[in-house]
Amino acid sequence: PTGEPPEPLHRVNGNNYAPNNPNSDRINATLLSLVRNSELEQIVGSMQELEQTWNHKFNYPWTFFNDEPFTEEFKKVTRANTNAECRYELIPKEHWEIPSWINRDLFKESARILEEQNIQYASMESYHQMCRWNSGLFYHHPALKDMQYYWRVEPHVNFYCDVDYDVFRYMRDHNKTYGFTINIYDSPQSIPTLWPETVKFLAANNQYLAKDNAMGWLTDSERRPEHNKIAHGYSTCHFWSNFEIADMNFWRSPAYEAYFEHLDRAGGFFYERWGDAPVHSIALGLFEDVSKIHWFKDIGYRHIPFFNCPNSPKCKKCTAGKFFDGADWLKKEDCRPSWFNHVGNEWSLNGG
Ligand code: GDP
Ligand code: MN
Repeated sequence: PTGEPPEPLHRVNGNNYAPNNPNSDRINATLLSLVRNSELEQIVGSMQELEQTWNHKFNYPWTFFNDEPFTEEFKKVTRANTNAECRYELIPKEHWEIPSWINRDLFKESARILEEQNIQYASMESYHQMCRWNSGLFYHHPALKDMQYYWRVEPHVNFYCDVDYDVFRYMRDHNKTYGFTINIYDSPQSIPTLWPETVKFLAANNQYLAKDNAMGWLTDSERRPEHNKIAHGYSTCHFWSNFEIADMNFWRSPAYEAYFEHLDRAGGFFYERWGDAPVHSIALGLFEDVSKIHWFKDIGYRHIPFFNCPNSPKCKKCTAGKFFDGADWLKKEDCRPSWFNHVGNEWSLNGG
């Protein structure tokens, strides 16, 4: 790697990326946001910064998902913040409801125990439903049937840097499956049996292991050995999935589908608090070659309390190299050094 930003493919050229151009250079891709009506102001904040730094040049459509119908107000205000097409989609009940094989009493009791261990959102049912949907269901929504790539956008995030190339084309042309900005450790108490279930799955399905997988990264026990202990072998290091730019064909593959099905039946989305971030990350680390996972170091990003802040004149209001805001202990949550330790030395080129 040269340390240079990605080759500037498909910069805005003439009218190619005009919102209504049926022959535009856009590929099959959408900005994707699961959001509540009550988060209108926060999603507009995210939209404005992503439009300003990137999407006003490319006009990729926005697809909003909700487990309840979006209000007219939500539609009106979000539409007013982009020139691109906006779609508003309801999640089918069978994708959102707690599955029939989950025992409600057991769920409640497990949540109580997790709360005692200070696991955030443990007793919030909808949070578990959201994690499950983001793990294994969103890409089955009929509205995404013909869609291949997505960029996940949450309410209340920031985008700091001008990005002048079509990142979706970058993904496609460079044969990338998954793009991330931030890589951190998880609360091991939220996933004590995720790794043991994964190992069980692998024992019966080892044909799915990628040749150049990231098993070493997933099981790295050097930096935070106590995490590996509580998580029974998993470092808890994961791509922070509130930002992800990815190819849905990976989630739709036999390997991932079988893996999700196994996890879903095991019940940990409810009896524990498995997040879509560790689930996605473990799957990528096992079933995909590391060369297909891309760090978007040039996309300045924040989801409180963490940042990805490039050292570049294209970035505003983002202190180069800054990783966290708040208490000092947050510093040790950064897991990118472990990732780059296993896949190469790109990290040091950023001065990180
Ligand atoms: P955190 O980032 O882990 O603190 O979780 P968030 O509260 O940000 O939730 C993650 C994403 O899921 C955000 O985009 C939320 O808007 C969305 N989300 C979470 N719960 C629900 C829900 O019950 N309904 C809907 N429609 N969106 C939700
Ligand atoms: Mn969030």
